[in-house]
Amino acid sequence: MPQQQQQQQQQQREMPTLKVTTTTWARDSHDLFDYEARHVNTKTFYIQRPMKAFRSGTDIQLIPEGVANPTNADYLVRFVSDKNGKFQVVPAERSGSQSTNPKKLWLIVKDLQPTGHIIQENDVIKLGRFKLRVRQCVKSGDVQPELRLDDSDVPDVGGAPGDDLKQMQCRICLLEGPNEDDPLVAPCECKGSIKFVHINCLRHWIKGRLQNNGQSDNSGSTFFYKQQQCELCKTAFPPAGMANGEKLQIVQVPNTQPPFIVLENLVSPSQQQNRGLHVISMAEKKILKLGRGHESDVRIADVSISRYHATIRFVNDNFVLEDHNSKFGTLVAIRKSHVVDVDSPVSVQVGRSAISLSIEENPGDVPIEGSDAPAPGGNNNPGSGSGGGGGNGGGGQTDGNPDASMEGGDGSHPPSQANDGSSGG
Ligand SMILES: [Zn+2]
Ligand SMILES: [Zn+2]
Repeated sequence: MPQQQQQQQQQQREMPTLKVTTTTWARDSHDLFDYEARHVNTKTFYIQRPMKAFRSGTDIQLIPEGVANPTNADYLVRFVSDKNGKFQVVPAERSGSQSTNPKKLWLIVKDLQPTGHIIQENDVIKLGRFKLRVRQCVKSGDVQPELRLDDSDVPDVGGAPGDDLKQMQCRICLLEGPNEDDPLVAPCECKGSIKFVHINCLRHWIKGRLQNNGQSDNSGSTFFYKQQQCELCKTAFPPAGMANGEKLQIVQVPNTQPPFIVLENLVSPSQQQNRGLHVISMAEKKILKLGRGHESDVRIADVSISRYHATIRFVNDNFVLEDHNSKFGTLVAIRKSHVVDVDSPVSVQVGRSAISLSIEENPGDVPIEGSDAPAPGGNNNPGSGSGGGGGNGGGGQTDGNPDASMEGGDGSHPPSQANDGSSGG
């Protein structure tokens, strides 16, 4: 072996190395990954410089930064490193000139060490295919839930300047004119004789609707707030409105005792009628259950949700999210990047692939992806993914049996093009 190559190999062994283990579910269903699936394709890579990951069928390919993206492959994720060799996992970037489709990147909560994810406001949590946004985390103090679902201002509900309120009728109680501390308001798009309603009549009507949605507990501090709409014009009633320069609360909710958390269910545009906020006080509750089961505090009736899917606890002044061995996982969106450190390995999910990442300080004789050292007896083409092999010879990069993924028989994916990773040897 030439001396130069030996030196290169010695350097390679001592460089911080990112170990990347990818597990891909053969079935393509709503970007889900089945954590109980046995028919998966697993591959392991070792990298020492920035790389991009692509998926085609059940096969994963790593490509160095600067090399053109492959066509007809899902662009999953980037691994970048700084001068100190510290690695970060970064969502795939959207690029106008390339046809490859970048995927959303999610942190896998059950693999976090120490256990659980500390929830921050604006986190997006994904249970199965169902998403929740953390609107408020209130640990203490005199703060109440903010019920705005839109970022709109508090609208004027006082009616038009020319309206003679004394002549106007409330469309609920049918009495004319405002009462003391009970003005007539125009809270929706309705016009003419049905335009006005007493604010107390409207409050009472909304309260009755909220109590009928069956997700309030006896203490009253935990409830599901769903925006109510006018039955005639279908406009959503605002939680509060302005009349004669005064702010009037339209939706009145129970006093909520901190610590409490407010989660918004994120729904597709066609499901807007299911939009709402889960307001959950943990003042008298040690553990909050999320799942499909009836005993759940946040109950989500969806086939991708396990009966008892995840929990939120309030410990050491933090709201901590944990997975409860769910089938389709508990995830938190990674917006910018996530650091992989020596003592903090990380797992991420991108669609139907789960990727475990750890730093190997002394990788030893492992095949380095896209290594500059010529592969003995093989071609040294960094663009060929795991087949590149590197100076230590390829082989043994695939832990799973790629053919096993075909036994599921669901027929929902094209034939496997999995590379068994042994071609570099
Ligand atoms: Zn009335
Ligand atoms: Zn209306």
